[in-house]
This record gives sequence, structure tokens and C-alpha cells, in this order.
Amino acid sequence: MNVSDRELRVKPINNGTVIDHIESGQALNVLKILGIGSHSKTVVSLLMNVPSGAMGAKDVVKVEGRELDPEEVDTIALISPRATINIIRNYEVAEKFRVGMPRKVVGIIKCGNPNCISNSNEPVSSKFMVESADPVLLRCSYCEFVLDKNIADNLL
Ligand SMILES: [Zn+2]
Repeated sequence: MNVSDRELRVKPINNGTVIDHIESGQALNVLKILGIGSHSKTVVSLLMNVPSGAMGAKDVVKVEGRELDPEEVDTIALISPRATINIIRNYEVAEKFRVGMPRKVVGIIKCGNPNCISNSNEPVSSKFMVESADPVLLRCSYCEFVLDKNIADNLL
């Protein structure tokens, strides 16, 4: 363990989920995707701009007392395709996997077409089909609007 590892290490969590290798600057958007906001009681640790050999810099999010399921975390692939998920049980990494691109994204991304029914007052959740993972290309299931950039800016 080198000096920077020691300095950066925060208290290990007992049970929960560690989301590692988040693109630098996307940690807060990851929390948004997971529905963790200011009213949440969940204990969350954020590390931003951590030096990373593979990525230059990365963000890390630790969510205590909650295991995120793969479907829930896969949406993170839209903004951080290299993110890895570590499920922690009793201070040990019980499961480790990389996020995978979901086939559809419901209720998380806002359609860029202002006339889309998902942007009206109707009780309709936004819904996109993932047509391409690299580069990311999403198509609205209601109006066919294509979203292929600034996806993080369109988070609901
Ligand atoms: Zn639409």
C-alpha cells in the first residue's frame, strides 16, 4: 500500500455497496440515478477525483446498509461505462461485477422533445430503448426522439 492509498482510504463499510471506477465528476449523478437525495437517510460516502492508475482520476460512492441490485446499477453505465460494483457483507467483498448497459431506461432520463407525452402533465414515465451502447444512443419509446449526448444533463 503506498502513501496515497493510505491517505485516501476511508473507513471500510460493514454492509452495503461500493461503486468504484465512476467517471470523474459523475458521482453526484450516480446518486441521482440511485434515488439518493437530500431527504435520504442512507449513509453515503463520496470520493471525488481520486487518482486512478487506469483512469487518471475517478469517483467512488459508498452506500452503507443497502445492496443495490444489478438492474438498479446498470443505468450507471449510461454515464460511467467502466464503473464496478462491490457488494460488501461483513466487511468482505461478497460480490463484484461491472455495470452492464441496460436494454431500456424507464423514469430516469428526460426526453429532449418538449412535445413528448412523457414531458406533459400526463402520468407517463419517460422510457428509452438503448439502441447502441458505444457510443450510447437512446431512443424515446413514445416519440422516437434520439438522445446520444449530454445524457447526464437529462437526468430527471
Ligand atoms: Zn419522447
